[in-house]
Amino acid sequence: MKYVLVTGGVVSGLGKGVTASSLGVVLKACGLRVTSVKIDPYLNTDAGTMSPFEHGEVFVLDDGGEVDLDLGNYERFLDVTLTRDNNITTGKIYQSVLDKERKGDYLGKTVQVVPHITDAIKNWIESVSLIAVDRKEGPADVCVIELGGTVGDIESMPFIEALRQLFFVVGQDNFCIVHVSLVPVLSVVGEQKTKPTQHSVRELRALGLTPHLLACRSAQPLLENTKQKLSQFCHVPVGNIINIHDVPNIWHVPLLLQNQNAHDAVLKQLDLTAVAEPPDLQ
Ligand code: ADP
Repeated sequence: MKYVLVTGGVVSGLGKGVTASSLGVVLKACGLRVTSVKIDPYLNTDAGTMSPFEHGEVFVLDDGGEVDLDLGNYERFLDVTLTRDNNITTGKIYQSVLDKERKGDYLGKTVQVVPHITDAIKNWIESVSLIAVDRKEGPADVCVIELGGTVGDIESMPFIEALRQLFFVVGQDNFCIVHVSLVPVLSVVGEQKTKPTQHSVRELRALGLTPHLLACRSAQPLLENTKQKLSQFCHVPVGNIINIHDVPNIWHVPLLLQNQNAHDAVLKQLDLTAVAEPPDLQ
């Protein structure tokens, strides 16, 4: 299994879900089968009990799972039918570990975040990524994992550590990290600012994950010298800096990715070749 991990930095609500679903679309357009996993680092077991005013609408899956609305994006963008297990929450992970602890499965060991919670996360991701969600036989080629929240949050630390270990286990050619970040413009200075992205990439690297692609959200298209600066200071090739500026509706985002050859950068990192020529989506 090949994994594409989408993380987010600087602020929440940047469009990680839309970016992850759109990456899935461009990979699917290359003839690959794509599945997805959404990680929500909150203690609620699922989104069913959460206020829609606070968290957006609850999306109900075919199997009755009440999940984050991002899974609705995945289903619509990728034409897949996901299961409740495709949405991992801290609550679900702790519940599974505590159930095992009560059954005595840990054989007297001290149950800890590392390794028990992180192992449970890794195992969950590995097994759920194998579920066929596109009405075909066998597992997909690529699993897009979206890590909710912002890198550096206390809540997401066990997930980051589990994903770092998963990266190490599956190896360089099977893991691609896409970091979604914000490039703001200060109205008084009128300049695209790269420092917030630099800091969030540094934070991610300190946790053992180095991004292969940057997906930069901005109000206006990124200037060439902004890209050069981001490349130099974030250690990401300039061709792998993808700009997702504000668009009138989110269905434009796959086009933005395809026009900037994001699929080629991901395929190269995953050592995959396209099995189909991406259609002209214009
Ligand atoms: P996150 O997963 O980071 O919380 P979402 O993917 O849920 O963010 O997106 C947050 C909001 O921003 C959504 O309402 C989405 O429609 C909107 N959005 C995302 N990307 C863009 C974009 N490129 N242009 C305009 N709106 C966007």
